[in-house]
Amino acid sequence: MAAALGGLRGLLAAAGRAGGPARPWGRPAPPGARFLGQSSHQPVGPRAGPEPGSGGLPEGVEYIPTRKKGKNPMKPVGVAWYSLYTRTRLGYLFYRRQVKKARERYPHGHSAPQPCHFPGVKILPIPVLSNNYSYLVIDTGSSRAAVVDPSDPQAVQAAIEEEGVMLEAIFCTHKHWDHSGGNAALRQRHGSCKVYGSALDAIPELTNPLADREKVSVGCLTFEALATPGHTVGHMVYVLDGGPFDGPPCLFSGDLLFLAGCGRLFEGSPETMLASLDMAVGLGEETLLWPGHEYALECLSFASLLELDNPALEQKLQWAMQQRQEKRSTCPSTLGEEQTYNPFLRTHQPELQAALGLRRGAGEHPDAFRARVLKEVRRRKDLYKAT
Ligand SMILES: [Zn+2]
Repeated sequence: MAAALGGLRGLLAAAGRAGGPARPWGRPAPPGARFLGQSSHQPVGPRAGPEPGSGGLPEGVEYIPTRKKGKNPMKPVGVAWYSLYTRTRLGYLFYRRQVKKARERYPHGHSAPQPCHFPGVKILPIPVLSNNYSYLVIDTGSSRAAVVDPSDPQAVQAAIEEEGVMLEAIFCTHKHWDHSGGNAALRQRHGSCKVYGSALDAIPELTNPLADREKVSVGCLTFEALATPGHTVGHMVYVLDGGPFDGPPCLFSGDLLFLAGCGRLFEGSPETMLASLDMAVGLGEETLLWPGHEYALECLSFASLLELDNPALEQKLQWAMQQRQEKRSTCPSTLGEEQTYNPFLRTHQPELQAALGLRRGAGEHPDAFRARVLKEVRRRKDLYKAT
């Protein structure tokens, strides 16, 4: 849910034509079979997410309900669209259309998947929709696996079958359909599979709500959930502990952090997002970043307009152009390199502040100023995207 704000007209048209959800697996339905949207645990229809009051939210987090137009940083049209997308059946129908279109346009995925191996673990990015990534994370010793953000259940199921693994867990970063839309179909297919995520987001089929810092084991793998609100109020990222396989930690960042970018602030203030980004950076420079979208080229191009004299940024942009020309994935990067070119992680840098024409006010807290810098970078990025 980051590139979809222009789709309202198509969405409404789809709603007019909708005759019920399509089957998730693309094969003829056996008599009496139940599929996505027809199951007893109905995943579609209005999904009014929880509207947390002050209770249940991490300390210092401000939740901005989408209907509070005055407070929400989005433009009124964006607020209306976002409410439709997240709170009504139209959002689900829009997602179904996205899946169908992407399968037609990219029958083999938008990018060539490049698996990453460490002793005992394999990480397989699965390109889905037009720019999303799901990730299959496999304990190769036991063939048990988890999937992060299964947007398109058909693509994820194909990877599960090809790898010959047992799906034990779905880790869902947030409620947006392009990250959670495959939960129901995969749960139906893999009865013992659990769905993890935050109870503060309306995640479909959530079976195991997680608290901040809670850990989950899948075979020999250990994942830690971190609450990272801002994009949505219940956004969570998952960190795979690298210790057991003598590798770096792996951050599955959903729509918190992208290569050279960060997610839009749909349900949080710049201060909240800044705190979440700081938490991610605290994971350490060697941490591998596995983001929820393939946005590298767009984000790096935008960043290079802000920082005209940043060799690390220029080098990464050249590399990404080459990668994307060959339809290769740009992930993973490391949190160390992200800090050299990602403007959303460089709010403390005087060069960036100067480029934005911002100066810290007398008596202004450094973090308050950084939040102001973040807000301005985000605003410019939103405008950049719109053109
Ligand atoms: Zn999202």
